[in-house]
Amino acid sequence: MKTRLALVTGGTRGIGAAIAKTFHAHHYNIAVTYGHDRQGAAQFEKNTGIKTFSWDVGDFDACGKGIADVIAHFGQVPEILVNNAGIIHDSMLHKMPEATWEQVITTNLKSCFNMCRHLLPPLRERQFGRIINISSINALAGQIGQTNYAASKAGILGFTKSLARENAEKGITVNAIAPGYIKTEMTEHVPDDIMQKIIAEIPVKRLGLPEDIARAVLFLAADEAGFITGETLSVNGGHYMG
Ligand code: NDP
Repeated sequence: MKTRLALVTGGTRGIGAAIAKTFHAHHYNIAVTYGHDRQGAAQFEKNTGIKTFSWDVGDFDACGKGIADVIAHFGQVPEILVNNAGIIHDSMLHKMPEATWEQVITTNLKSCFNMCRHLLPPLRERQFGRIINISSINALAGQIGQTNYAASKAGILGFTKSLARENAEKGITVNAIAPGYIKTEMTEHVPDDIMQKIIAEIPVKRLGLPEDIARAVLFLAADEAGFITGETLSVNGGHYMG
C-alpha cells in the first residue's frame, strides 16, 4: 500500500506545524498550506523538508486549484485532511463590523466546506478518508468578544457530525478536535495577567502545547481509527468537561 498523504491547512506554524511534523515523524507523506506568510513558510520548508502550498482556504475556487496542485505534485490524493487554518478577530458583537463577522466565518467554517467539497469525491471513490476539523474550547463554552469565532467553531461541530453520517459507509471518518488554550502566536497577544487567570482555571495548570493537539490528530488519522466518527475530542487539560 502506498504511504498515505496528509494535507494540513495552516500548517506552517503553531498547531498546524506540530501536526505536520508529527505526521512527518511517523512517515506519512505530508503537504501543508499557509495563507500569507511566505517567508515563514519558506523557513518551515527549509527546516523540515515538508512541502508547502499557499492559497486562501476561504476561497472555494482557490481550494479546488490548490488541492489539484497537491495531487499533481505528489501523484496521489490526500487521504487525510486536517482543516486547521483559522483566525481570530475579536470584538464585542455590539461593536463588530459586518466584515469582521464574515471574515472569521469564511476562514474558519466555510473553509471546511471548500476543502471537503473538492476532496470528498475522490475519497468516496477510494472508499477511504480521514477528515479532522480543528474546532475550539470556545465553541463549547463561549467567550466574550468571540461570537464570530465561537459560531464558526461551533458550526464546525455540526458540520463534522453531518459529514460523518454522509460518508460513514464509504470508509471516511470525520471528527473534530476542540483544543483548549494552546501556546501559539494566536494566544501570545493575551495580556499576561489574563493568561495567568486562564492557567489558574485549567486543572493541569499549564497551557496546552501544539504537540498535545498533534498527538490527538495522529490518533484519529490512523487506519485503525475507523470506528470513531462524528466525535469531538476535547484536548484542554480538563479546562472544559462537556
Ligand atoms: P496560528 O495563528 O498560529 O496559525 C494559523 C495558520 O492558519 C497559519 O499557518 C496561517 O497562515 C493559516 N491561515 C490563516 N488564515 C488563512 C487563510 N485565509 N488561508 C490559508 N491559511 C490561513 O494558529 P494556531 O496554530 O494557534 O491555531 C490553529 C487552529 O487551532 C485554528 O483553527 C485555531 O482556531 C484553533 N485553535 C487554537 C487555539 C489556541 O489556543 N492557539 C485554541 C483552540 C483552537 P499565514 O500565517 O500564512 O496566513
